[in-house]
Amino acid sequence: MENCIFCQIIAGDIPSSKVYEDDKVIAFLDITQTTTGHTLLIPKEHVRNVLDMDNTIAQDVFSRLPKVARAIQKATGAAGMNIINNNEKIAGQTVFHAHIHLVPRFNENDGIDIKYTTHEPDFQVLGKLAEQIAKEVV
Ligand code: AMP
Ligand code: ZN
Repeated sequence: MENCIFCQIIAGDIPSSKVYEDDKVIAFLDITQTTTGHTLLIPKEHVRNVLDMDNTIAQDVFSRLPKVARAIQKATGAAGMNIINNNEKIAGQTVFHAHIHLVPRFNENDGIDIKYTTHEPDFQVLGKLAEQIAKEVV
């Protein structure tokens, strides 16, 4: 897609530090390097984000995720890894070509802190909500 920075990377029009490529996906180092080895895995077909993915693109991307993750871990010696994906502006998406962040973790004091606020569970509310979501799964 024209004007899409990641499509330009796929086309080779702008440079990237590639770590993996096949006919369906490409993985390259994120320029920000949140931690050493921070990598983005993206489908070659332009799609906005996971919310827009069909099963084929999802399979293309997610089937490659473990092997790319393991390669990063081996090469960097990371003790663990966060695998993160942002969908839409509200969730922090800034590049609107779907991508999965692989962020290797080396120590607990690296400044990365993913917090989930905890609430007392109301199981009746949870049950209703789960039902509503379940109905929408197609
Ligand atoms: P997000 O905020 O989830 O949309 O993430 C977009 C990511 O793309 C950011 O972490 C940027 O550092 C990264 N990024 C933007 N431009 C480039 C580029 N030319 N090469 C590599 N990574 C990039
Ligand atoms: Zn694109």
